[in-house]
Amino acid sequence: MDKLISLVVPCFNEQETISLFFETVEKIKPKLRGYQVEYYFINDGSSDNTLNILRKLHEDHKQSVHYVSFSRNFGKEAALYAGLRSATGDYVAVMDVDLQDPPEQLVDMLAGIEDEGYDIVGTRRKDRKGEPILRSFFSNMFYKVINKISDTQFLSGVRDFRLMTRQVVNSILKMSEYNRFSKGLFSWVGFNTKYLEYSNRDRVAGTTSWSFWGLFKYSLDGIVNFSEKPLALASYTGLFSFLVSVIAIIFIICRKLFFGGSVNGWASLISIILFIGGLQLFCIGIVGRYVGNIYLEVKHRPVYIVQEEK
Ligand code: UDP
Ligand code: MG
Repeated sequence: MDKLISLVVPCFNEQETISLFFETVEKIKPKLRGYQVEYYFINDGSSDNTLNILRKLHEDHKQSVHYVSFSRNFGKEAALYAGLRSATGDYVAVMDVDLQDPPEQLVDMLAGIEDEGYDIVGTRRKDRKGEPILRSFFSNMFYKVINKISDTQFLSGVRDFRLMTRQVVNSILKMSEYNRFSKGLFSWVGFNTKYLEYSNRDRVAGTTSWSFWGLFKYSLDGIVNFSEKPLALASYTGLFSFLVSVIAIIFIICRKLFFGGSVNGWASLISIILFIGGLQLFCIGIVGRYVGNIYLEVKHRPVYIVQEEK
């Protein structure tokens, strides 16, 4: 049997890019050491012509092009999960359809696995050229924070684009959690990983589906999913303000005993009450994020729903 590489490609409203992507990959196929390539496109509830394009592509290349189409938009993480579950290759690559992940690199990735013995060859942007400054700033902040508080390693600029051995893919599939933060899952499973570096490039067509707010929420998800430190932070702040109040009470009692009482200080009292109240809500909020995640996990809902599959 031929050796096989599966490409897992999530697509959300990507009608402009799919054909370009397919043609580009087909061109580099001969360089892949005799490996067959199979495609698993995941249509993540696109509202444009994406599904029809995928159907057509499958009709033209019945052997090599497959697709899974979701009943609605479940997000890239769900799409990746569906793709990894369907893929049958000896090696599996995860890549974006917008050609921001240069398919030429598959050749070097394959060399990394077969010649140098790595289990995963990933990619890392060495710059953030063409990215809004504010976005870069917050990205860098995110990596600083999460690496401080999580036991899982997060390297800045690492993309999802990677080639993995079957063993790695199976390990990732064993993690059946509902809250799937792929960057974390890929790193959590371990294995020998090599990163190829390249300069950032823009999408060939279409627009990114990430808003600034979306990215912000995504980074909070990452933190909640891969660190319990915020919970500890909540209890430490509670402990700290408790100790401060004990000292304050002792101070007030002593003052009353030795100097007699005074009834002013209404404004300071109100601010302290507001301060403590705010702190409590903040800490409950942190706990709430974790409880919410537990709630989602125990419902055991499927990560995605397939409407059509070929
Ligand atoms: N994507 C998806 N579901 C979504 C959002 C994005 O499957 O809800 C896909 C999208 O089609 C693309 C990849 O994920 O192939 C990366 O998306 P995008 O280019 O918008 O993100 P960026 O490269 O800007 O981080
Ligand atoms: Mg992109």
